[in-house]
This record gives sequence, structure tokens and C-alpha cells, in this order.
Amino acid sequence: MSTEWQIPVVCTDRGRHRRTVITHIVGGTGPDGERFRHMTSLGEDPRWIPPSAGSDPGDGGSRESYQFKCPRCPREVRVNGDRWWTGVRAWFEANADAGVSRLPDLDLSLLS
Ligand SMILES: [Zn+2]
Repeated sequence: MSTEWQIPVVCTDRGRHRRTVITHIVGGTGPDGERFRHMTSLGEDPRWIPPSAGSDPGDGGSRESYQFKCPRCPREVRVNGDRWWTGVRAWFEANADAGVSRLPDLDLSLLS
């Protein structure tokens, strides 16, 4: 599996705190030539939760949306899964130049 590009997903609380990484979206080509993309986890204290079919809205989970939580400010961003990946693709296409593998930060605090 080789990573060809990555987009850092960060929060800055619209410039009010320093850049804090929530996750990285990485994409590339797998061993069989298939394209992949996924979001990395930062370990024990996840800063994002994927949509899950088994989620109960009462426990804070969501069936359709990604949830992103900033450890530095109270900001919690929910984005519908389809909208999220459409947005990621648009960000990629707007910013990807030949040979540039690390794309500009996607600042969640500017989305909400
Ligand atoms: Zn924040």
C-alpha cells in the first residue's frame, strides 16, 4: 500500500487557538492496484467517529454523519458522510498539483 496524498484535517477555532490535528485523510494505491482512501486514528482518544448503522442518536452517535471533536475548544462538527467525501474530493481537486502530495489543511472550524 503506498500513500500518494494526504490532507491534514485540523481545527483552529477560526484562528483562536493553534493548529490542532484532528485526523489525516490519506489516499493512494493498494497492492492490487485498487485506489484507497481512509482517515487515520490518533489512538486512544479518538477525535472523530465514523457514521455507524448501529448508532443510537440518544448516545451521541450518528448513523449518517461523521463527528469531529476538537480537544482544544468545545467545537464539535458533524458532517453527513456523503457530503464529507464529496467535500474531500472537491478539496483534493482544488488543491492537488502534480507532484504535491501534502495538501493544504482542511480547517473544520471554517466549515461550521
Ligand atoms: Zn478547536
